[in-house]
Amino acid sequence: MKICRLEHSSLSKPGFAVLEDSKVYLLEEDFAFDHLSLPAETTILDREEVKLLAPVTPSKIVCVGRNYREHAAELGNKMPEEPLLFLKPPSSVIGNGDPIELPVQSQQVEHEGELGVVIGQTARKLTEADDPLQYVFGYTCVNDVTARDLQRKDVQFTRGKSFDTFCPVGPWIETELDPTEATVITRVNTEVKQNGNTADMAFPVAFLIRYISSVMTLYPGDLIATGTPAGVSRMKYGDTVEIEVSGIGILRNSIYDPNQG
Ligand code: MG
Repeated sequence: MKICRLEHSSLSKPGFAVLEDSKVYLLEEDFAFDHLSLPAETTILDREEVKLLAPVTPSKIVCVGRNYREHAAELGNKMPEEPLLFLKPPSSVIGNGDPIELPVQSQQVEHEGELGVVIGQTARKLTEADDPLQYVFGYTCVNDVTARDLQRKDVQFTRGKSFDTFCPVGPWIETELDPTEATVITRVNTEVKQNGNTADMAFPVAFLIRYISSVMTLYPGDLIATGTPAGVSRMKYGDTVEIEVSGIGILRNSIYDPNQG
């Protein structure tokens, strides 16, 4: 099932809906990721009438660095022995179709296509007895946009990963997906740049959730960006970048340079 977040003239604030082909079926106003209930009487809208928004407004975005061997190698890094975690701020989130803005501080803004995990149940200090995938609401596409020059210069990842618009997410959440075997493809202007499979993750999704929960409480709606395959490259003004995860869909954003209008 595809769950989207949307704006519509009949709604006083963004709402959630089930998306099926050309129709959207509005969910209750009190929809939350930890209790998805389908309303008895459903308002049905045409997909063309609504504007889809980023499907999450997370309290935090937990990212995993160097989770694919070939990507670590292309940046000259060794594989970590434990997951390498960093955060992106909620203010970096944009939706499908929203522009990624090039910051004046960077000359090297790169795409990182990734599988995104949306948390459904509060997860804190999960043990071996817990099934981490039971805490997942669904999966989406993420572009972990990175100012590579600033990431290298600062050593700390914060500035290079955190500019406004540096976390495109969407276009929706797919609740049925096997995260152990999904292709993650990134195209820039239709040219395939990254073509990986989540089967090649050093630390699979279930491991990551348990590991992250040992550090910080994951709340419903929080987002995990699970790392990127090899093939990252620079994006330029006017480019269109697509992140496609099999079984989910395509997240498409164009690159905007405020200094060039
Ligand atoms: Mg990344």
